[in-house]
Amino acid sequence: MGWVYAFTETEGLGKELLGGKGFALAEMTRLGFPVPPGFTLTTEACRAYLEHGAFPEGLWEGVRQQVARLEAATGKRFGGAGGLPLLVSVRSGAPVSMPGMMDTILNLGLTRAGVAALAEASGNPRFAWDSYRRLVQMYGEVVLGLAAEGFERLLDRAKVLAGAERDVDLSAADLERLVAAYQEHIEAQGQAFPDDPWRQLEGAVRAVFESWNNPRARTYRRLYEIPDDLGTAVNVQAMVFGNLGDDSGTGVGFSRNPATGERGLYGEYLKNAQGEDVVAGVRTPQPLERLRESDPGLYEEIADVAARLETHFRDMQDFEFTVERGRLYLLQTRTGKRTPEAAVRIAVEMAEEGAISREEALSRVDANTLPSLLRARIDPDRAPEPVAEGLPASPGAAVGHAVLDAETAESWAGRGLPVILVRPETTPEDISGMYIARGILTARGGMTSHAAVVARGMGVPAVVGVAALSLNLEERSFRLGDRSFKEGDVISLDGTTGKVFAGEVALSEGGSGAYLQRLLEWAEPHRELGVRANADTPADARRARELGAEGIGLVRTEHMFFDPERIPWVRALILAETEKEEREALDRLFAFQRADFMGLLEAMDGLPVTVRLLDPPLHEFLPPLVELERKEAAGALAPGEAKVLAQVRQLHEVNPMLGFRGVRLLLVRPEILRMQTAALLSATRALMEQGRDPRPELMIPLVSTPEEVEQALAVVREVFAEFDLVLPVGTMVETPRAALVAGAIAPLVDFFSFGTNDLTQLTFGISRDDAGHFLPRYLDARTFAHDPTERLDAAAVGRLLEIAVREGRAANPNLKLGLCGEHGGEAQSVHLAQRLGLDYVSASPFRVLTARLAAAQAAL
Ligand code: ADP
Ligand code: MG
Ligand code: MG
Repeated sequence: MGWVYAFTETEGLGKELLGGKGFALAEMTRLGFPVPPGFTLTTEACRAYLEHGAFPEGLWEGVRQQVARLEAATGKRFGGAGGLPLLVSVRSGAPVSMPGMMDTILNLGLTRAGVAALAEASGNPRFAWDSYRRLVQMYGEVVLGLAAEGFERLLDRAKVLAGAERDVDLSAADLERLVAAYQEHIEAQGQAFPDDPWRQLEGAVRAVFESWNNPRARTYRRLYEIPDDLGTAVNVQAMVFGNLGDDSGTGVGFSRNPATGERGLYGEYLKNAQGEDVVAGVRTPQPLERLRESDPGLYEEIADVAARLETHFRDMQDFEFTVERGRLYLLQTRTGKRTPEAAVRIAVEMAEEGAISREEALSRVDANTLPSLLRARIDPDRAPEPVAEGLPASPGAAVGHAVLDAETAESWAGRGLPVILVRPETTPEDISGMYIARGILTARGGMTSHAAVVARGMGVPAVVGVAALSLNLEERSFRLGDRSFKEGDVISLDGTTGKVFAGEVALSEGGSGAYLQRLLEWAEPHRELGVRANADTPADARRARELGAEGIGLVRTEHMFFDPERIPWVRALILAETEKEEREALDRLFAFQRADFMGLLEAMDGLPVTVRLLDPPLHEFLPPLVELERKEAAGALAPGEAKVLAQVRQLHEVNPMLGFRGVRLLLVRPEILRMQTAALLSATRALMEQGRDPRPELMIPLVSTPEEVEQALAVVREVFAEFDLVLPVGTMVETPRAALVAGAIAPLVDFFSFGTNDLTQLTFGISRDDAGHFLPRYLDARTFAHDPTERLDAAAVGRLLEIAVREGRAANPNLKLGLCGEHGGEAQSVHLAQRLGLDYVSASPFRVLTARLAAAQAAL
């Protein structure tokens, strides 16, 4: 095993050693594509270098041998005093594609003597000096670590001095002067550009190896979950020149359109340029399509290459090429990145073409990206400059009038105005305003903040943590960067990209319907897990059903309590002093809930609807303590408010998540439990009388002992008897204790539903609303591999589930098992649910598609 291999001698070696680029270059070489010759320094060499801080023994001997072979193959000399100089590119290439993460150096090996030789041999001094100035600049930036701006400034000045508009308008003499200025600039910073090709090569290889650990690369690896210990390979390849004149050029091609998935060659081409010019946006390239008229022969050749590459690599390819004096050379190919729409269309069409199997098509689509297909979006071609950016917390785009609190959101939305809720951050009191808003914008908070989690759950687009946002609630105004806005001004946001715009931005509807439909049809027969939705309103339920939900796994009854028409009655119930007051409030709420349940059961006729009894602490329905205390201090309490304040103080909890909520609340105030059960039974009865097929199930939240379940059941059974109707009753398993005593709880109930949101928080001892303080750092440092509130933690939470499944089923063989946390709509978590042998998962409506596809993938 050596450290270095020619593209022609890598038979049997894989990507992990050669890197993706090296592997593809070798593969294309073997297949007979026109690839300039070269060799690869392996990832093993990189790892050895990074470990010892020095090149491993034998590495440079190997490199020297390979360079000698390149000289023989090309008839040029490295460092080339005399004849034509051999120039090479030095290119990084990690085992996993990390586009743009590490830099490439072109034209390496060029020296002052070489420039003269190149000018002479090519008959084109401008070309020789252009190549040299590019090398000095790239080397200065990548190897010597100097800022790009310094070079850009000098380049701009050279253009001004020469009266040149574009880089290509600079003459050989202009470029020669520019190189001198570059060199002065480099020396002024205590550095030197080596005039020795071997020292250039050594510096470049070292820089590529070390770039593995640059912050951009680390961040990219974290975001895409790429291990930190792979290392990168280095490819050294003979240069071909796209900057030799108008019969030369460089371009990028895709075997299918990466934005839409449409079949056929797609790409860009730039005449008389070197590769970096396209990416760097120095000049705007033309669509490849144009070559069809201007150079049909070349176009055909490229189209043919695209098709052959795709056939060989069995997926859409993104390839880079250069044309030197009319001859096409391939410099790279890789599986192309694509939008979620394109991923679906390409997978479906490739299966229909017979290139891949349907199963493979299913496995190629990342189920977690499906929700974004359903959302309206901002057309990037028509979007103006954003005024601010934040975290893309919940995908989709929204346009609306900015409102600065939940109450205003509700009242304006009630008048039919689309609103965007703009807040410093959100709290549970904002729920109803968030629900009714088209979009949510916050100044603070991370991807797991209250705003982010709730918005994703509701399918409301959201951008959170916008540092440039500041609010002035007194004056009802806010600023985004240096622009100021009043409440009511129209703004737009894109929760897919995190961008925020002033005014109304044009939206387009989410597409790809037909292809997605076909993919899901293929998925269905494989799926073993049932898929339900978490839905609180008939509209959500209908939407979920359209998307293929087979029932509702979680109705959060309290969400209905936040309705402005109802909250006074919830407050009346909490504050009731006499039995009469309490009775009246309960009767009102009974009527509301009965109507809600009828709507939900109707929308899900024939399918199960799991209704969770009241879960949150009561004080969430009362005005916030601080607000009342501020009023009190100002002597501005309204007549009834003193009583409210006393009650709020009494109900105030230091840690409400662990407080007076769930089954605890239902046992202490059984009249609420009775009222909710009766409302559900009454709705069911009414629908049955209409000849419908309602299938409600009752669910008790936050239990931790069998006794709690027994006592709640005793009350529920009394109501069943009153109505002479019995429903399936189950319990949430969302405390670690409930999971551990599942064997004792299971015989009492018909089903368990794993509430993995709370179970995760309680297992880790973190609150997702507060996790923003440390979670970003934890993820950065890989203290946590994933955000456990997003992806179900297999090691501990999964273990609790496994115990509960095993012991629950042993104690009650008829026990049904579901999962209704946010995780029910996350692909990896669905895979875990499948391994655990659950009966179904329940996801928010927008994630039902994710759950369906992921369940099929898990069963493949
Ligand atoms: P990246 O990983 O950023 O895509 P590459 O190593 O592919 O970097 O290099 C960027 C560009 O430099 C390529 O697209 C190609 O146009 C140009 N390039 C690289 N090697 C050569 C070469 N041997 N001859 C001509 N151009 C090259
Ligand atoms: Mg490239
Ligand atoms: Mg819960």
